[in-house]
Amino acid sequence: MAPRKLTDKKLVVASHNAGKVREIGDLLRPFGLEVVSAGDLDLPEPEETGSTFIENAELKALAAATAAGLPALADDSGLAVTALNGDPGLYSARWAGPERDFRLAMEKVEKALQEKGADTPAPRHAQFVCVLCLAWPDQHTECFEGRIDGTLVWPPRGDRGFGYDPVFVLDGHDITFGEMDPAQKHAISHRAVAFNQLVDACFRA
Ligand code: IMP
Repeated sequence: MAPRKLTDKKLVVASHNAGKVREIGDLLRPFGLEVVSAGDLDLPEPEETGSTFIENAELKALAAATAAGLPALADDSGLAVTALNGDPGLYSARWAGPERDFRLAMEKVEKALQEKGADTPAPRHAQFVCVLCLAWPDQHTECFEGRIDGTLVWPPRGDRGFGYDPVFVLDGHDITFGEMDPAQKHAISHRAVAFNQLVDACFRA
């Protein structure tokens, strides 16, 4: 079946994460939509009970679309470290603890990598993964996944991004996402890869 097109002019960004809301807002800007966040509307934050990025993105988008009566776009994303069998993965936010301390989360990843030793293939290889899911109040959903490959560095570098950005260097680059101009990150990130698919499928006539 052909993907459903977005015809409404107003869209909820189903996230309470300020970094994500900012990035998704930047990506949506050229499309002239009126964008409100789940935080602006005081929507409850659903529990992320899924066992995949797609399940979590879908449940967040559906919860917001149902509560707001508007189409809603959710992002579920994370850092998947190859030598750690894909951890922190789905639990990328939880590794930062209740205080959402990403310095701590990056330290935990680095410690786990050191404990593994350098004897795994591609010991510092990681992927950033992003699933974007657009949901409508009638429970229809369209979901798209972006993955990008990179290398983890230590110590963290740069304060321009959020989350794990200061330790991730995208293949073919030599600065971290934390050091990169946000506009450049938006053009090449895992979120951009998923977003371009969403635009092709749901935004273009
Ligand atoms: P969740 O999707 O809300 O469960 O959280 C995903 C977590 O993954 C975020 O809180 C970040 O820590 C991390 N993450 C996802 N995308 C990015 C990114 O673009 N840069 C840095 N960290 C990210």
